[in-house]
Amino acid sequence: MLDLSEFGVEGYFDYNATAPMIPEARAAWWETERRHWQNPSSLYREAGAAKRLLEDLREELADFFEIDDPERVVFTSGATETNNAVIRHFAEIATTDGERGRVLISCIEHPSEAAAVAKWLPGKKAHFLDIDPLTGMIDPCEVAEEIARGDVVAVSVIAANNETGVLQPWAEVATLCHEAGIPFHTDAVQWIGRFSLDKLGAGNYVTGSGHKLGGGKGAGFLLLPEKEARVPFHSLIGGPQENGRRAGTENLPAIAAMLAALRNQEESSLESVARQQSALRDEFEARMVRELGVRVLGQGGPRLWNTSLIVLSQEKNVKWLARLSQRGYAVSTGSACSAGRGNPSAVMAAMGLDYEEMGRVLRISSGPQTKAEEWVGLSDALLSISRE
Ligand code: PMP
Repeated sequence: MLDLSEFGVEGYFDYNATAPMIPEARAAWWETERRHWQNPSSLYREAGAAKRLLEDLREELADFFEIDDPERVVFTSGATETNNAVIRHFAEIATTDGERGRVLISCIEHPSEAAAVAKWLPGKKAHFLDIDPLTGMIDPCEVAEEIARGDVVAVSVIAANNETGVLQPWAEVATLCHEAGIPFHTDAVQWIGRFSLDKLGAGNYVTGSGHKLGGGKGAGFLLLPEKEARVPFHSLIGGPQENGRRAGTENLPAIAAMLAALRNQEESSLESVARQQSALRDEFEARMVRELGVRVLGQGGPRLWNTSLIVLSQEKNVKWLARLSQRGYAVSTGSACSAGRGNPSAVMAAMGLDYEEMGRVLRISSGPQTKAEEWVGLSDALLSISRE
C-alpha cells in the first residue's frame, strides 16, 4: 500500500480531474531528469542512452496493451493533444479525394474531442450518437444502422465518461467497426488504471493520459491500429520525432513517470479496489438519497467504481463546493455550468438536465485508497451543510 499521506489527499474526491503523482512515478521522473536530460534526437553517446530509454518505454507500453509493434505507440503531451489530433486525422480521412464520409461520435465525448469535432468536422460530417438518459450509454444498434448506410469512415466512442462515470459499450462498437473495416477510436483516459486493458490495443486508436493514473502531468499517448488508414496520422508537425507522427522534443521524464504509474496499476489488484470503492460509493449514494434527497445520475448503467454524479435538491453547487472545501473536502461541479455561468455541459444535457439543474450538480470521484472514514466524513459534511 502506497503512503500518500504527505500529498494531502485526505478528503480528496476529484480523481477524475487529476491524481497525485505516486512515489514510484516521482522517483522515475527525477531519475530520468537527472540521468537522461539530453535530447533523445541528438547524436552523441548520452543522447543515445536517452533515446534507448525512450524506445524501451515505448516497448513496455506496447506490451501492456499486448501490441507487437512498438511503433504503434505515439507519445504525446496528454489526452487533449491526442484527442485533437485523432479528430483532425479522422476529418482528413473524411475529406480525402473529395470523399463525402461521415464520422460517428458519441454525444458525450470530452471537450478536447467535442471542440475538435465542432472545428474540423462541421455540419453533416459528424453524426452524434445519442445516449439513453437513464443508463447514460450509447446504443451499439445505432452504430450498426449508421454503418449500414455506407458512408461512415470512422467512429469514436469514449470508454468511460469523465462526468457520469458511465462505461460505454466500446468493445462491441470496436467489433462492429473492425468487421466493416472502419477505424475506431476510444478515449480511454478514465478507463485505464481502473479496469483491465484487455482488448483495448486490438486494432483501435486509443487515447491515454499519465496524470489520471498518478504518473504526473505532461505525458499521454495514442495507440495506433496495426492497419494504417490511407491518410498517415500525425499530431504536431515540424520534426521527425515519434517516427514522424509527433514533432517536438519528447518529455522523457514525464513518459518514464507515466510508465512507472502504469506498472504500479498492473501490480496492484484492480478487482479488489473496484469492489471496495464501489461498495463505499454505493453506501454514500444510498445515504445521500435517503437523507438529503439527491438524485444520482447514470445509476442505470455500468459505472466507474469511483464516480458519483449527484443533483442536489437545493442551492447552487458552487456554494456546496466552497463549504465542503472549508471542511477539507475537494469535489467538483463536473464540467457543468457553475452558479448559472459558463457553457452548459453537453453530457448533462444528454442526461436530461436543464440549465438550472446543471447548477446543482456535484461530481465526486474517489481514488484507489480513499478510506471508508473519508466517504462517511463527506456525507456527514454534506448533511451538516444542508442544516446551516
Ligand atoms: N479525456 C477525458 C475523458 C478526460 O477526463 C480528460 C481530462 N479531464 C481528457 C481527455 C484530457 O486529458 P489531459 O488533461 O491529459 O489533456
